[in-house]
Amino acid sequence: MRKQRIVVKIGSSSLTNGKGEIDLVKLVDHVEALANLRQEGHEVLLVSSGAVAAGFKELGYPARPVTLKGKQAAAALGQSLLIKAYIEEFKARDVSVAQILLTRPDFSNQAQYKNAFDTISELLARGVMPIINENDTVSTEELKFGDNDMLSALVSGLVHADELIILTDVNGIYDSNPSTNPDATKFNHLSEIEDHMIENAGGAGSSAGTGGMRSKLLAARTALNLGVTVFIGKEIGSYKLLRILSGHGDGTYVKREKASSVTINRQWIGMHSHISGQIYVDEGAERAIVSNGKSLLHGGIERVEGTFKEGDVVEVHGAEGDLLGRGKIAYSSASLEHMIGTRRNEWRMESPTFEEVIHRNHLVMEVAYRTKSDRNSSQL
Ligand code: GLU
Repeated sequence: MRKQRIVVKIGSSSLTNGKGEIDLVKLVDHVEALANLRQEGHEVLLVSSGAVAAGFKELGYPARPVTLKGKQAAAALGQSLLIKAYIEEFKARDVSVAQILLTRPDFSNQAQYKNAFDTISELLARGVMPIINENDTVSTEELKFGDNDMLSALVSGLVHADELIILTDVNGIYDSNPSTNPDATKFNHLSEIEDHMIENAGGAGSSAGTGGMRSKLLAARTALNLGVTVFIGKEIGSYKLLRILSGHGDGTYVKREKASSVTINRQWIGMHSHISGQIYVDEGAERAIVSNGKSLLHGGIERVEGTFKEGDVVEVHGAEGDLLGRGKIAYSSASLEHMIGTRRNEWRMESPTFEEVIHRNHLVMEVAYRTKSDRNSSQL
């Protein structure tokens, strides 16, 4: 089998016992399966939840805390316990692991985003398996990845993974809720995650984690858009991940015919960058950038909103006002306004109108990611 780069996401209920402790039997089952995957020569990254769910008992809570400080303190404690258990179990199987805790702002800063990529690449190159979680202890509600399903999708895009495996307690994606509808039919293979599937899917299925099928579908769509194949399903045993990789897992495979990976520069612009302003373009420019994949030229800009500098990321709106995409702008808002003013005041346009305001390599169409609705569930 071809050597692949694989991201595996494991949820809180698959690692803990519901009483605020790690379930070692469950954890070891995953560790063995991950070690076997590496044994076959694959590069593996683990996105592991479970920090809050593993830590609240020792913190003195009888049930999962509901306050933010309770959850953040439980996460601090539980993350340490989790990583300790992982280190011990992986060490016994000759696997070195490294903990990476990320927050959303680490991704919105382009230099830090690139650093995360470089660090993870270095670990993989040296045969170390990264174990990634959100840095729950310091992350704030507004500035979260949403949940670890989404985090695993974003990580799989960042590292240009071949496959994202989301292990859960449901054996795949159904056309309706299998726990309430006995006639629900499972999809073994899908090539798209449609809007209606997301709208009809349920929220968090257990009290241990924060996900649910809805967040898994959103994550799957994001990963697909980033050129990654996704598996969502349920499997146990030391060979479960190899079975999934061979195409025989009990779950749903989501795969596009033509999957192409996205450069980290485009991922950053399209999904993580901070928006500093808006520009509105005319019909000709809209056609050029949307249908013909061209750069945005100065002559097509009608109007500018907000104050931004050269190198900032702005939203690009079409003639009708609808959002077309976003891109890294080569001019400040002041110089663009000056250009537009000069153009309007001149009978003959002597100043060049064909300068590239956003180069096509730095222009990402909205339809590529649809991140807005993908990022609205935000909780610990
Ligand atoms: N990061 C959280 C934890 O480790 C879990 C988030 C999630 O369940 O998606 O407890």
